[in-house]
Amino acid sequence: MKLTILGCYSATPRTLNNTTSQVLELNNHMFLIDCGEGTQVQLRKHKIKFNRIKHIFISHLHGDHFFGLVGLISTFRLLTRETDLHIYGPKGIKEVVTLQMKLADSWTNYNLIFHELTSDKSELIFEDEKAQVFTIPLNHRVYTNGFLFKEKEGDRKLDIEAVEEANIHVAYYRKLVQGFDVINEDGKTIKNELVTKAGLKPKSYAFCSDTMYKEDIVPIIKNVDALYHESTFLEKHAHLGPKTKHSTAKEAATIAKLANVGTLLLGHYSTRYDGLNAFKEEAQEVFSNVELSEDGKTFDF
Ligand SMILES: [Zn+2]
Ligand SMILES: [Zn+2]
Repeated sequence: MKLTILGCYSATPRTLNNTTSQVLELNNHMFLIDCGEGTQVQLRKHKIKFNRIKHIFISHLHGDHFFGLVGLISTFRLLTRETDLHIYGPKGIKEVVTLQMKLADSWTNYNLIFHELTSDKSELIFEDEKAQVFTIPLNHRVYTNGFLFKEKEGDRKLDIEAVEEANIHVAYYRKLVQGFDVINEDGKTIKNELVTKAGLKPKSYAFCSDTMYKEDIVPIIKNVDALYHESTFLEKHAHLGPKTKHSTAKEAATIAKLANVGTLLLGHYSTRYDGLNAFKEEAQEVFSNVELSEDGKTFDF
């Protein structure tokens, strides 16, 4: 899995700071997560091919998370896109987007498929043979979901010595990596676990923005390899958290610790602060493996 941060600041785009958007590469997918203003410029800057984006996940309808969406949809049209585009987001997202297209008399020449979300429980919203995406219901000023991206269990690995020893014909190797028992050259059933080993551990990534501290997301994101959790404020502004329904770096770290995640990525910083180091320092008082998201930064996990 490779994550590219296109923007990780709250509120408004500035000369050097972009609002929320990121691209997650998972197997053959390029999932776009949130689409703040300027996302298409950031995509170009980081050489991400537009036509590889087939699924866009929008957490909520605050401008810093989706004001770039209509622009991107329109650019896809001008680039004569033909591939379907799936958009997952809160109920109302279809109305917002289609009203603009209607008034501009600029309908897309590709299929735009909306998956509007209304549930306050975690649900499976995307699945294919390699991956799954679930919602993570969050607590913000408007209806908001985070997203959990999970690889499925991959192929098993052949234990070549054991396979040869068991006298299995090469034609059955495919069945073996898929986890099936097979019949060997002597007509005997060979148990899969005797001749194969577990494959690579499937990876998982959770995106949680925007939200105030919400402990009941912990079971949903338990043991993920990486968690992006918003950290709008430092401790000195912790009192603003409940009012604006945002979190502090320390609260993000508490969630990371309770969920036993691999790495915590902080982001959605308020632009009132001069630097980012204090976010990391405060989070590390609670949880050690902390990384700072920064526009343009990539993470492999
Ligand atoms: Zn925001
Ligand atoms: Zn928001």
